[in-house]
Amino acid sequence: MRPTKIARAAGSGGSVPVEYCQVCGHAPLDDVLSLGYMPPVNQMVPIGTVPHQQPWFPTNLLYCRNCELVQLGLAVDPTIIFPPEYPYTSGTTKLLRDNFADLQRESAAMLGLGKDDLVVDIGSNDGTLLSNFKTAGSRVLGIEPTDVGDIANKRGIPTIKRYFGPEVAREVAREHGPASVVTAANCFAHIEDVHSIVDGIVAMLKDDGAFISESHYLIGLLDTLQYDTIYHEHLRYYSLASLKHLLGMHGLEVFHARPIPSHGGSIRVYAARQGAHTVQDSVRRMLAAEPRGEAMVKRLADFRRDVVLSKLRLLSILRELKEKGQRVAGISAPSRASTLVNYVGLDEALIDYVCEIPGSLKIGKYMPGTQIPVLDEAKLFEDQPDCAVIFSWHIADELAPKLKAKGFRGRLITPLPVPRFL
Ligand SMILES: [Zn+2]
Repeated sequence: MRPTKIARAAGSGGSVPVEYCQVCGHAPLDDVLSLGYMPPVNQMVPIGTVPHQQPWFPTNLLYCRNCELVQLGLAVDPTIIFPPEYPYTSGTTKLLRDNFADLQRESAAMLGLGKDDLVVDIGSNDGTLLSNFKTAGSRVLGIEPTDVGDIANKRGIPTIKRYFGPEVAREVAREHGPASVVTAANCFAHIEDVHSIVDGIVAMLKDDGAFISESHYLIGLLDTLQYDTIYHEHLRYYSLASLKHLLGMHGLEVFHARPIPSHGGSIRVYAARQGAHTVQDSVRRMLAAEPRGEAMVKRLADFRRDVVLSKLRLLSILRELKEKGQRVAGISAPSRASTLVNYVGLDEALIDYVCEIPGSLKIGKYMPGTQIPVLDEAKLFEDQPDCAVIFSWHIADELAPKLKAKGFRGRLITPLPVPRFL
């Protein structure tokens, strides 16, 4: 049965507290963690802007004992968190590009995709994922509400620039026929009315079509202390158990699941109509390894304690550096850096600037909630600060050798999972 009381912030121009589980409607929800008040992660004003009033939203995490869903305690109007000028393009990191190529290879082999098969991507961003399916000969269609969709259209990936919902789904099915594959990579946790999204997905799918989602994985998030991925774009933090429960409410059965490296630890989950595909053993294995009920309550309490300690440890490293008069910069400004910077309390007095690679749309702006400027990384090599904190620490292994090779001589710090010098 569908819950009737679900927080809806769309159209409110503000936010609505989550008082009932976003998926099953259960109340009350358990408090897991509060990170305090946070600005929207992509609200970045140009350098030199006089400080002015900006929205800040309470950021807390809740747990549903009924369906296992860990979720944000506040729904914010999507027009605030996904403005048309949303400065994120998925094609920019190698790890994501490789993952999308892998998703295409894996699904095409498993589902036997041919030339007539339609692949629809929800939240298709700049078309990076679909470009793989297009190269392999499938028909493709993207759905992306922000201006990044223009980039996809320009590169030949047909993209509808609208918010996805049942109405768009019916239009797609009418104009393009049923889809063999519907993908939702790193956006399935973002859309507030998740039941209407799944309704829309089911409406587009062929009888034996597959819905493939990629989401941050709750268990990985807990294991590697990724509290920095908690922000208002991410309304839900799925375990396989909670995702299975959600999809099951719509007659969809999970038939394959596996961990993938995206965003510091995600899950790729294949689902289809009940009985359409053989359920692989991967599903049972992943479910068996997940804590549930009282074990999850305990796991979440440990997480909370460790998050607080990690904040204190990072501040302690920075305190030592500052007492010696050293200068500290930041490396890269992913959305997650906003949560870390604001939760730990970093500002322009502690971090001189944050570097992004040339071409990043974030250059020339301030980090959200602060006056830390985001600059072209050329600044780092010419300025040579004593230390740099890698905010995209989940790809530190990829970044650190590059920074050294390009001539950075300072020390590097990773803030998570354990704050330390590399
Ligand atoms: Zn629930």
